[in-house]
This record gives sequence, structure tokens and C-alpha cells, in this order.
Amino acid sequence: MKRVRQRSSVRWRIVLIYFLLVFIAMTIVSVYLLDKMKTYQMDSVSGNVTGTIHESKLLTALGRYSDLSGEAAAIQEHLDSNWSRSFSEELSVVSTDFLVCASTNPAIIGLDARDIFDAGLLLSAFVTGEDTESDSVISGNIPVKNLCYPVISGENGGVTGLVYVRADLSSIQSFLSQSKLIFVQAMVLALVITVGLGFVIARSITVPINDVTRTAQRMSQGDFSQEVEVKSDDEIGQLAQMFNLLREKLDYTLSEISNEKNKLETILTYMADGLIAIDLDGNVLHANPAARAILRIGAEEDLTDVPYDSLLGHISPSMKLAAIKANCSERGCNDTFRFGPTTFAVRYDRFKDDDGRDVGIIIIMQDITERQKLEDMQTDFVANVSHELRTPLTTIKSYTETLLDGSLDDRDTAVRFLNIVDAETDRMNRLVRDLLQLSRLDHRQEKWTIKECNLLSLLNAVIMKVDMTARQKQQRLNVLYGEGQEIRVLIDRDSFEQVLMNVLSNAIKYTEQGGHIDIDAFVKNSLVHISVRDSGIGIPEEELPRIFERFYRVEKARSRAMGGTGLGLAITKQIVEEHGGTIEAASREGEGTTITIKLPLATKRGIRNIE
Ligand code: ADP
Repeated sequence: MKRVRQRSSVRWRIVLIYFLLVFIAMTIVSVYLLDKMKTYQMDSVSGNVTGTIHESKLLTALGRYSDLSGEAAAIQEHLDSNWSRSFSEELSVVSTDFLVCASTNPAIIGLDARDIFDAGLLLSAFVTGEDTESDSVISGNIPVKNLCYPVISGENGGVTGLVYVRADLSSIQSFLSQSKLIFVQAMVLALVITVGLGFVIARSITVPINDVTRTAQRMSQGDFSQEVEVKSDDEIGQLAQMFNLLREKLDYTLSEISNEKNKLETILTYMADGLIAIDLDGNVLHANPAARAILRIGAEEDLTDVPYDSLLGHISPSMKLAAIKANCSERGCNDTFRFGPTTFAVRYDRFKDDDGRDVGIIIIMQDITERQKLEDMQTDFVANVSHELRTPLTTIKSYTETLLDGSLDDRDTAVRFLNIVDAETDRMNRLVRDLLQLSRLDHRQEKWTIKECNLLSLLNAVIMKVDMTARQKQQRLNVLYGEGQEIRVLIDRDSFEQVLMNVLSNAIKYTEQGGHIDIDAFVKNSLVHISVRDSGIGIPEEELPRIFERFYRVEKARSRAMGGTGLGLAITKQIVEEHGGTIEAASREGEGTTITIKLPLATKRGIRNIE
């Protein structure tokens, strides 16, 4: 409602301004013109009369009489014959004793001129001897112009009387009244036209402005599709053009902002790290899906009224609102905390508004459990390597010292000690060899020669190699796959031989005297299954997942005593995986262990080497 009134008020104001301007201008012009016309009319009346009087030589004729009162009859006769008919105004001759001695108006002859004429004018003419004139109203409402001409005596140059003319101004008056009426009518007409034109002009101004207002309103509701129509090239047209430009720019800027916002939202949604934004009072402003997942909060759960301390602050004292506010007052901070089985690295910092004032804190949480595990593993690995190398070195050192201290002389002892030194050196060699192989596998520097071959012939060859060791332990090696059977696989023969050797020798190693080992190979679901089942000591269930870790041994002393490095299964797993396969262990303590390797069948098409 207010808007409408404002709009119409602009229109009315323009109309009113037009109206007043025209009214004032016309009034001034009318008054000026009427005044000029009146002056002109008056001047022309007095000019005409004066001209007629002077041209007629009346004054000269009268100047010949020394006493005008005495010659009244003659003068009257002169007036009757020369003026009464031809001269439209009232003309009277006044003597020095102010007597109207002759007149074209018979009614005033013989009267005292001071009573009927302008006495002041009479006196002034007598005194100055010059033509004088004045305006007055007679008989109540008849306007007249009084013109007074002194009669100068031809003999002595004195004023012997006056010619007094009263010119009727009624016709001028009515002309001026008529003119006034015409002016008023013209003014009314002009004002009506002005109001009409004012409306049209005001409309031509307000309509484009209303267009701009309407479009601005739509823009405020987010609709940037409408353009303002540019109807002219004037200031209003320029305003519309500028407005369209502004709309375009605003539209572009808003879509840029919206793109940025979407980009940011997508980043926040899909980033792996948890992000929480809070204000300085601890109200949660935003929590991305990763943060919700970390803190086990549902995606739909509203966090508006959840205080930060009950969300994250309670997890560790260093993460309380007061603590993080104090810590990051100068610069961003790093911290870690554990939440359940997971370790998180946290980074938080204050964020500011446009004026540089702190408005809140952004907290980023990163799950570093795996990284930490990896770091721990690395540390453990280094410790393990040092330990594994130190053990044989210590043994070698102590035996060589004993030998140098004199045991060399005792040949039997010397031979025994040197055998131990030799065995320890072999162990170190194996260790170094295994470590180097692991390093090559880690750095993908192992050179593979992948060829298609019959897995069963390779398996037979390995069984042949370990057969002697098994026999020594009175173990039975049961081969379950058929003789002469073929399973073709794509493998690097040497490294796969190492795999089979590791698994089979472990089975023999960790099976007591007289035990048995079943070896099988078959194809199931397009996968080659190789299983080695022993009736050995088995592996406790909780240790089972760790046997493929580097240096992990269930029984360290036993493994070491048997010459194991603790790296065999780690190398085996890595080789199998490099071949696109998997390795699993199933075991029951005291009953035995089954190691199963699954490999893809050789189905590769194209040129290949067949062994
Ligand atoms: P090692 O050189 O000590 O044998 P491996 O990496 O080959 O190292 O094996 C890791 C550990 O897994 C061994 O120390 C052993 O405790 C356990 N293990 C492997 N194979 C068997 C098995 N067949 N039976 C029982 N335990 C086994």
C-alpha cells in the first residue's frame, strides 16, 4: 500500500510542479500584459486628446481672450460648432475664477470647476502653466482621465484659463476586464492541458521506474531472468541500461558465489577428514558427513542446539572449548585424541569475518589410525631387524672371543664353535637375503618372468625337494591331486617355487615327528586352489591374522631354533598378491594348520611362452 502511495505521489508531485509552474508563469505574464495594455490604452487616450487639443489650435484661439468668463458665449458657440459633435470626450473651458464658462457637457456650464473636476489638477495647471493629467472616478463608477491644458494669454503669457478634458475610460476598462477574462480562461485551459500533459510525462517517467522496481523486487526473490525494457536513450533509459547491467553482474556474481558454495559443499561432503565449524560460544555451525561419521551422529540429526563440549569437548580435556579457544588465539593448533579404537589428528584454527574479527573455530579431524599403525610397524621393523641381526652377531662374537681366548687349541671345541659361527653366518645371510627381497618387493624392483606353466609339475618338484626333510622327521607327505594332471597358471616360476617351498617347509617345521601333511591342488570357480594341511602344532586363533606380518612369530625361540627369519610368510604373501592371488591361513592349536593359496587360471589370450 505504502509503495503504491509513494509511486502515485511522485506522479502527483510532477503534475503539481507542472501545474504550479504554468500557473505562476501565466499569472505573471497575464498581470504584466494587462498592466502593459492598460498603460498603453491610457497613454493612447491622453496622447490622442493632447494631440487633438494642440493640433486644433483651440488653446491659441482661447489665448486671445483676456477674460474667458466674459467671452463665455462666444467660446460656447465655438465649442458647439467645432467640438460637440466631432470630439467624443467632454471638453470644458475653465476661467481663472474656476468657473466652467463653456463645455461640451451643457450640464456643468456655470458650475464651480473645483466641485466637479480634480481641484488639485486645476491648481497645479494654473500654478505650473503646464499640461497635467490625472485619473479619477465620477458619478460613482465611471472611470475618467482628467487632462488639463493651460490657456496662455497671447498678450502677456499668463494663464488666463484652462481647457479641461474628461475622457471616459469605461470602454478601456471593459476592454481590460474582457482581456482579464480571456487570460483567466486561457490560464484554466492551459492548466487543464498542463495537468493532462503532466500525467503523460509523469507516467513516462514513473512507468520505467516502476519497471525497475518490479524487476528489483523479483531479483530480491531470486529471479534474475527478467530484464528491464529500455525504451529511450535518456537518463531513464540509461538507468534501465545500468540496472540491466547491474542485474547481469549480480546474477553472474551470485552464480559464481553459488558455484563456489556448491564446490565447497561438495568438498566438505566428500572430504575424508571430519570438519566441524563452531562459533566462539561453542554452537555448532557445520559438521560434514565425515565428522558425523567419526562422532557417530546421524546425517539427519540437528546439531543446532548441541553444545560443542558435549559433542567433541568431552572426548579429551585438551579438546574442550575453553582449551581450544585459548590454544588457537594466536595461530592454528595440532593435537591428537583417541576415540574408541581410532586415533585422530586434529587441527584447529580461528576463522574471521570481513572485518578481521574472530567469529569461530574450524576443527579438522583426520583418522590416523592406519598411519600410526604403519609408523609403529616401521619402528617395530627397524627394531626387529636390529634385533635379528644382533642375535647372530652376538653369538658369533662370543664364540670367536672364546676361540681366541685359547679354545682354538682344543680342536673338537674349535670345530664345534666354528660350526656354530658358520650356522649363525648362514642365518644372517638368509636374513639379509630375505630383507633385500622384501625391499625389492616393496619398491617393485623384483623382476618377474611370467610364463605359463603346469603348477602341478612345479608342486611335484618342490615336494621332491622337501621330501628328504619330511622323511627325517618321519612325516608323511600326502599328495591328493591326481598323477599326470595339469593345472596351467601364469607365474614367475622361481618366485612361486619359493612360495611353495616356504609353505611346505613351514608345515614340516611346525609339525611334530610322525605327523602328516596333505598337499592338494584343484580348480574351483575359475581359481586354482593350492592347500597345504598339516597335523602340526597349529596357531592360536588370536595370532592367526598376524602370521603374515614381518618378523611375526608365534613362538620366537622355536622358530629361530629352526632357522626361521620370521619373514617367510610376509614374502610369500607379497609374491602371491603380485600374481593376483590370495593366501589364507586356518588353524586350530594342537590340531594343525591349513594354508590355502588361490590363483587365477591361465586364461590370458595372446602370445605367451609355454614351458
Ligand atoms: P618363520 O621363518 O619363523 O617360519 P614365517 O613367516 O614363515 O616365519 O612364519 C611366521 C610364523 O607363523 C612362524 O614363526 C610360525 O610361528 C607360524 N607358522 C607358519 N606356518 C605355520 C604352520 N604350518 N604351523 C604352525 N605355525 C606356523
